[in-house]
Formats: sequence, structure tokens, C-alpha cells
Amino acid sequence: MFKTARLKLTAWYLLIIMVISFCFSFLIYQISSAEIIRFADSQKKRFERQFYNNETFIPSRPVIDIDDLITESQKNLLNNLLVINSVILILSGSLSYFLAGRTLRPIQKMTEDQKQFISDASHELRTPITALKAMLEVSLRDKKLTLNDSKQILNDAIYSTNQLKNLSDSLLELNHLNNNGSALNLVSVSIKDLMFESVKKIKPKAAKKKINIKSTYITGKIKADPQKIGELFLILLDNAIKYSPKESQIKFIASQTKKNITFQIIDRGIGISEKDLPHIFDRFYRADNARTKNGSSGYGLGLSIAKKITESHGGKIEVVSKLNNGTTFTIYLPNFS
Ligand code: ADP
Repeated sequence: MFKTARLKLTAWYLLIIMVISFCFSFLIYQISSAEIIRFADSQKKRFERQFYNNETFIPSRPVIDIDDLITESQKNLLNNLLVINSVILILSGSLSYFLAGRTLRPIQKMTEDQKQFISDASHELRTPITALKAMLEVSLRDKKLTLNDSKQILNDAIYSTNQLKNLSDSLLELNHLNNNGSALNLVSVSIKDLMFESVKKIKPKAAKKKINIKSTYITGKIKADPQKIGELFLILLDNAIKYSPKESQIKFIASQTKKNITFQIIDRGIGISEKDLPHIFDRFYRADNARTKNGSSGYGLGLSIAKKITESHGGKIEVVSKLNNGTTFTIYLPNFS
């Protein structure tokens, strides 16, 4: 598809260049022809004047066919213009093909990303839906099913449906950020309020594991989309809780320099291996220890969303981690004050 589009675009570029080149050549030909004729005429008149006035002695009148000379010069001019146009055709053909490739590359990348996203999303959705369907079908065929069993199965089905809803919400969010990342509702918000709200929301989850969140606030404001930044904090705090042992501590620290407002979320949890670190921001990536040792649920979308939110604010996110020794996520957002 992109090969055809590239060839078509090349043809269009070439057509435009050649139309311009032919128009100029035509103009050059007309002007130069007129100049040749004018020059030849003036030379002819001068020569004839000299001959007939007998100003200088010329033994016999030389035979000069001026029309032949003009035709010859015009032919040479035409040939030169044709050679120049052929060179322009070849050079601009290659240049057009190269430029068409460059013009289409971002569109091609976007389409491929979109295709990959749809394929990943349908794969991730199909697995839990198939499992849920199988569980319901098997239960339906079970003739000895008691009321209690049925209730348990319905509870499991509700749990799976909720998980699926979370997954589809995350997918929609990621797709929205990919397509519409710049549509932020930027306002000036208090850094302390932003952090405080996120901690308040996540506290019940931390309390279940008896995890203490120690926040270090700073005063001042930040220009950001409060809803998105709140979501970003929640993703990182939620991960810190998920991947930390019971009764541990998580630190949530804000600081600022002239250039940046920095937020750090530090845990003493399971950590991330060197092998997994380069991939954790990839869509659907989950480290092995997160799947097995920790047994926590997740689809590997949180950090992709976190990265997109940070980047859409003109910031960057970094991670430092050591297996079994904890993880530190650092977010740098531009300081506009
Ligand atoms: P998930 O839903 O699996 O948590 P994320 O995109 O949020 O998806 O995280 C991707 C992976 O990065 C996780 O599966 C886990 O392996 C690793 N990870 C993220 N945060 C932490 C953390 N605080 N401690 C240890 N591993 C983490």
C-alpha cells in the first residue's frame, strides 16, 4: 500500500517539477530565439551596409545564408534545453522518490503502530474472555451444581468482568493518549494538593498490606493537567504497593530545581532485573517476577500510560531498580514558575 502511495507521490512531485522546468525552458527558448534573430538581423544589416556603401573594399559579396544560421542556432539551443531537461528529469525523479518516502514515513509508522496496538489489544482481551466463557460453559453443564457453587461462580465471573473492564479502560486511555496526547487541560495547581489527593485515594489499598506511605511535599504550583498527573501518581503508587512486601514503607518525595519539579516514588519491594528494566515501559510487558513470585494481577499497561502522560507534559520518567532491593521511579516535569 505504501509502495503504491510512494510511487504516486513521486509521480506528482515529478509532474510539478517537470511542468515548471518545461515552462522555464519554453520561456528561455522564446527569449533566446528572439535574441538570436535580432542579433543576426543587426549583423546582416551592418554587413550589407558595409558592402553596398563600399566603405571598405570587399572584392565580392560573400554568400551568407542568415536563415540557415538562425535555424542552426535554434536547433542547438533546443538540443541543449532537451539535455538539461533530461538531467532535471533523472535528478528530480530520484529526489522526488526520496522525498515521497520521507513524507510518508511518519504516516506509515503511525499506521503500523495502530495495527500493532489493535493486534495486541485483541490478543490480550481474547485470553480472559475465552477463560470466562469456558468457566461458565463448564458450570452450566455440571448437573450437581449447588446454589453455593453457583454463587461462587457468579462472583468469579464478576471479578473477571471487572478485570476486563479495567483492561479495556486502560486500552482506551492509552489509545486516547497516543492519538490525542496534546489535548491536556493545563492549569496551575498546588503540588501539595496533587500529591495529597493521590495518597488519599491509594491509602485504603496500602492499608490492606499495612504499608506506610511517607510523603515529602513542597509548596508551590505546577502547570499540569491535574486529572492526568493524579492518574500518573496513582499508577506508580499502585505499583509500589503491589510489588512491595507487607508492612514496608513507600516514600513519595517532591523537590524542585530551577528547571524541573521532580517527584520520586521509592519502594523496598521485589525490584526489577536488569534484563527487564529496558522493557517495562513497553505495552503489555510484565517482568517474570511480577507474574510469578508476586502473583499480582495486571496487564502491563500502567507504565506505558505513565510514560505517555509524563511526555505529554513535556517531562520524562526514569527508573532505577535492583532485584529484591526496591525500585525508584523519578518523574521530571518542567518548572514554569
Ligand atoms: P502491571 O499491570 O503489570 O503492573 P505496569 O505497566 O504498571 O504493569 O508495569 C510493568 C511491569 O514493570 C510490571 O509487570 C512489573 O514487572 C514492573 N514494575 C513496575 N513497577 C514496579 C515496582 N514498583 N517494583 C517492581 N516491579 C515493577
